[in-house]
Amino acid sequence: MILKILQAGEPVLRQTARALSRDEILAPQTQQLIELMRATMHDAPGVGLAAPQIGQPVQLAVIEDRPESMQHLSSAELQDCGRRPVPFHVIVNPELQIADATPLTFYEGCLSISGFVAQVPRASAVQVNALNEKAEPVTIDAQGWYARILQHEIGHLHGELYIDRMQPESFATAANYQRFRQEIN
Ligand code: ZN
Repeated sequence: MILKILQAGEPVLRQTARALSRDEILAPQTQQLIELMRATMHDAPGVGLAAPQIGQPVQLAVIEDRPESMQHLSSAELQDCGRRPVPFHVIVNPELQIADATPLTFYEGCLSISGFVAQVPRASAVQVNALNEKAEPVTIDAQGWYARILQHEIGHLHGELYIDRMQPESFATAANYQRFRQEIN
């Protein structure tokens, strides 16, 4: 089963999501929600999905950056944006700290702003303390594209969308981005 991904304008996307208790994380409903979010993220396809995007205002996100999703990029492009495969994992109640504030600016999109992209400056390294799907504490040190994904997904849990941080003049349809990317990059 695939969940419906809500689009910008849905009030839940602008709410601060609530934390989950240990018991809630381990409850069958949450475990099932995680599996549905995983399937929905793969189907989209996307590299991350936050619970508010499927209408659940809770502090939960799934992330996975698969080698298959990088096939359209050259090794120079991958190196440029610091993109490497990230295995599937779950973050609950994440707390994000900036480890290196040096901004890196690249085009990004969002499954809740379907069909558009824009250049977004993001911190180049972050540390995230969260719980995993077993309610165990985890510390994630991330750089490059993975740090961008974490900032994007954790933003969703605070009612933030990338358009709040984008360089507005770079906003483009995904089609035009493909068409003009040689000129605009
Ligand atoms: Zn998003």
